[in-house]
Amino acid sequence: MQLSLAMHSSPRFSTWLWFNDWKVLIDAGDGASQQLGYKLRKIDTVLLTHAHRDHIGGLPQVINQRGEAGPFALCHPAHGKSWGQLERFTLGFNPGSSHNAIWRPLEEGDWIETGVEGRLVQCFRTKHFSNDEPNNAPRSLGFHLVWRKNKVKPEYQSLSQQELDAVRLEIGERAIADPQYDNLSAKDRNSTKMRLGAMGITAPVDEKIVTVSGDGQPLSVEEVAGAQLLVHEATFLRADDYDAEEAGEDVGHVHSTIYDALKLAKEAHVPNVVLYHISTRYMDGEIRDATREIAAQLELKAKVWPILPRRVYWDVLHDKPVWDGTDN
Ligand SMILES: [Zn+2]
Ligand SMILES: [Zn+2]
Repeated sequence: MQLSLAMHSSPRFSTWLWFNDWKVLIDAGDGASQQLGYKLRKIDTVLLTHAHRDHIGGLPQVINQRGEAGPFALCHPAHGKSWGQLERFTLGFNPGSSHNAIWRPLEEGDWIETGVEGRLVQCFRTKHFSNDEPNNAPRSLGFHLVWRKNKVKPEYQSLSQQELDAVRLEIGERAIADPQYDNLSAKDRNSTKMRLGAMGITAPVDEKIVTVSGDGQPLSVEEVAGAQLLVHEATFLRADDYDAEEAGEDVGHVHSTIYDALKLAKEAHVPNVVLYHISTRYMDGEIRDATREIAAQLELKAKVWPILPRRVYWDVLHDKPVWDGTDN
């Protein structure tokens, strides 16, 4: 698929994802500024999934460096004490550039306009903190990356190009008759008429291109359905590893397994899957083998790229997938 995604993900240490087509950085783990370098200046919107150290450890640097290039949006879940503290700290730390971060708390379902026309983001609540109260504002979020396209309205879709042109002309003629256009020159009048006609036969349609899970339990099929790409956390290869971890240090935080993420992709009919947030306890070969094994078991008709920890990927979707269950 034609989409540029650069990322790094070593859970406990650092995660960041850079979607160039939206000019959006999701999470800002340790090393994000060093690894992205001058690409930082292209960021228009920073979206933070939650306030764990591996997702915000590099935030002060990102804010300082990006802030040198002017104002940008910094969006985070509305709930959580860390945000206010971080905002106060970074504002005092290097005020000259840090004041360019425009902090915005997100509620469930909020839409975010990015700096790129027609590219939007919608956030949704995730389940990562086991003590999260559904009645409170969200503590952790995932994101849908949406492309708003102008498409021919359904009532005109069966028309031939010639018929469509005639409808467009007719709508344009009617619209330009409005007195507000009386003072236009003949040339401007014609181009305005064409523009109004084109607007009349089209309507904006939202296409969900990517869904990013953030940390947490598997998303629901409804949340993911329709996405062309699912970027889902898969901290553990096997459910047994998850259970062992739950009884140990990482108590109180909910995660997913590779099986969870791929089963979801299958049920939601998503054609492309990036697995990330895979624990550093696993060796690269082990991760690749488990991905292939589980995808084969599920007879998954999708492409799958597991993000190996400790690496930086510059163009994930142009690498060869580790599993390709599509026909082509
Ligand atoms: Zn994490
Ligand atoms: Zn976390």
